[in-house]
Amino acid sequence: MADLRALRGILRLCALLAGLVTIGGPALLAAQSRPDSFASVVSDLVTANRILAAEGILDGLGHVSVRKPGDPSRFLLARSIAPELVTADDILEYAADGEPLDAKGRDSYRERSIHSEIYRARPDVQAIVHCHTPSLIPFAASDVPMRAMYHMAAFVADGVPIFDIRKAAGVTDLLVKDAPLGRALAKTLGTKSALLMRGHGAVIIANSLPNVVGRSVYLDLNARAQLQAIQLGGRLTYVEADEAKLRMSDPNEYSRAWDLWKRKVATGR
Ligand SMILES: [Zn+2]
Repeated sequence: MADLRALRGILRLCALLAGLVTIGGPALLAAQSRPDSFASVVSDLVTANRILAAEGILDGLGHVSVRKPGDPSRFLLARSIAPELVTADDILEYAADGEPLDAKGRDSYRERSIHSEIYRARPDVQAIVHCHTPSLIPFAASDVPMRAMYHMAAFVADGVPIFDIRKAAGVTDLLVKDAPLGRALAKTLGTKSALLMRGHGAVIIANSLPNVVGRSVYLDLNARAQLQAIQLGGRLTYVEADEAKLRMSDPNEYSRAWDLWKRKVATGR
């Protein structure tokens, strides 16, 4: 009987020690190895580039940016490089006017005014994607408006305006490559979450990198679903603004998808 009590005591002690290792070990390690917020945001920006390339939203062109942590007047954006190839060393810091602080002789994206002027006009915006995603091009050319097809693209129900650069600046090469064009684009975006660019592509904004990546992926899927629904015919019933508003009350609407995409680009699967 005494042996049995001793054995139980030893088992309880083992369980207690195992618990301490489980609670203290990884948590302690995570705290010790936690990167500072700047390095963490740079890492997330690299990840966002890789995800958007892997999901077919960005190809050799297009870009994604984020406001600088601790200094919202500045933003972070890769040097002129294909998104799939971006590493932490490629991330540059930009001033509010869209000029790099220390590019070390490296080229910047020509359309960075899209980012600088939206950040100036919209204090609520934390991250921006500019893309040329093929599924969005027809809607940028058509007067058929984009409509929200499902809950994953609820933000579309708010409306997706079209920026026609010809109305802002006459005949151009269609690139938003200076501040006045960036301002005109930001004005057309207004308070919306996404904007189509006639003959060019789109801009998506959000309150975080995970959300701007999620919105970009699901704007593409929404466009494809809407085109399919139009081809299917019949009376179409879209997600309405009141329904979308309830769905969009979740501030981390794409967090689970972000974790999955992040894992996939990290493991190459
Ligand atoms: Zn472009």
